[in-house]
Amino acid sequence: MKIAVAKELDTSEPRVAATPDTVKKLKALGADIVVEPGAGIRSGLLDAEFTAAGATVSADALKDADIVLKVKRPEASELAAYKRGALVMAIMDPYGNDAALKSMADAGVVAFAMELMPRITRAQVMDVLSSQANLAGYRAVVDAAAQFGRVFPMMMTAAGTVPAAKVFIMGVGVAGLQAIATARRLGAIVTATDVRPATKEQVESLGAKFLAVEDEEFKNAQTAGGYAKEMSKEYQAKQAALTAEHIKKQDIVITTALIPGRPAPRLVTAEMVRSMKPGSVLVDLAVERGGNVEGAKPGEVVETDGVKIVGFTNVAGRVAASASSLYARNLFSFIETLIDKNSKALAVNWDDDLVKATALTRDGAVVHPNFQPK
Ligand code: NAD
Repeated sequence: MKIAVAKELDTSEPRVAATPDTVKKLKALGADIVVEPGAGIRSGLLDAEFTAAGATVSADALKDADIVLKVKRPEASELAAYKRGALVMAIMDPYGNDAALKSMADAGVVAFAMELMPRITRAQVMDVLSSQANLAGYRAVVDAAAQFGRVFPMMMTAAGTVPAAKVFIMGVGVAGLQAIATARRLGAIVTATDVRPATKEQVESLGAKFLAVEDEEFKNAQTAGGYAKEMSKEYQAKQAALTAEHIKKQDIVITTALIPGRPAPRLVTAEMVRSMKPGSVLVDLAVERGGNVEGAKPGEVVETDGVKIVGFTNVAGRVAASASSLYARNLFSFIETLIDKNSKALAVNWDDDLVKATALTRDGAVVHPNFQPK
């Protein structure tokens, strides 16, 4: 069994899908690991480290590979090098990308979308959304602090006292919780909001204050899967009125609100941005999904009247070494379920819930029920 670790074609992607640590673990499962030259360099991993862990480094890594490990979905141009029937694991970004799914089906590969892994206990170790969102939440606060012309903690010095920064986190999923914890560690005064009632207690347990319109709709805003529902226009208007007053008084706003398969909800209007003091900073972690903040631009820091809107993309990739290390372990844990321990051969159980939830294409067709061609 040959496992290939691909070098990312996308130059904005510094992460890599395996590390020397996971190479050793994959070898122990009986696999031969071949790494494309330079695959890990932007995560601080040299080819020599992969070799020392037991991998081979070769430009032909993808040829005849049974499993290909990637961070981003393979582009049509890359697929020519893949063997038909190869299992490909990546963050596939399948929503609204029918043509890309078709090209993977046409190439005959089995494409696994790691971000569709169900959030059940057994699959926690494979949860790439959580491992990457946690780091993005941390980095969003660090990016905000770097753009901010003042300090986060209150400082009482001989030369005088500077006040603590006021930080508001909108959206308290995995990224938002880590953002709260990180901002608190830096000494900020933190408030947070979400539409899911369960988050109130989580926010308070981290020492932050919760702010939300707590009406009947709010009480039912969580799906059985633990995600947010898209809220009614009426709720969004009430939420906007409450947050508008609050945002005026904030130094930093970090938004992380997402709804699976839908555009990100617009939470901060241009008017709210204008109401903030010069020197304030907004970080929009949802910018790649349409943005929570009006005026946020993917990959840019937009400054208007002294207020900055930070729209960095691939924020987990801004801490690439940590992100790769956790992502690689997520992949390893999934692969472990696909290999028979005794024969050391691939033995995919197509009826396994984890396989059914993540397999997008197989035998030349798009097989996932949520992404059937229209
Ligand atoms: P996400 O990335 O889908 O969304 C981020 C947050 O935005 C969510 O908390 C969501 O409620 C919030 N949001 C959506 N619309 C909003 C709006 N209009 N205003 C304010 N906030 C809004 O979420 P996530 O980080 O993937 O977490 C989703 C859920 O999954 C959480 O309940 C989390 O605890 C849970 N989870 C479970 C497991 C597990 O059991 N294995 C693992 C990770 C996360």
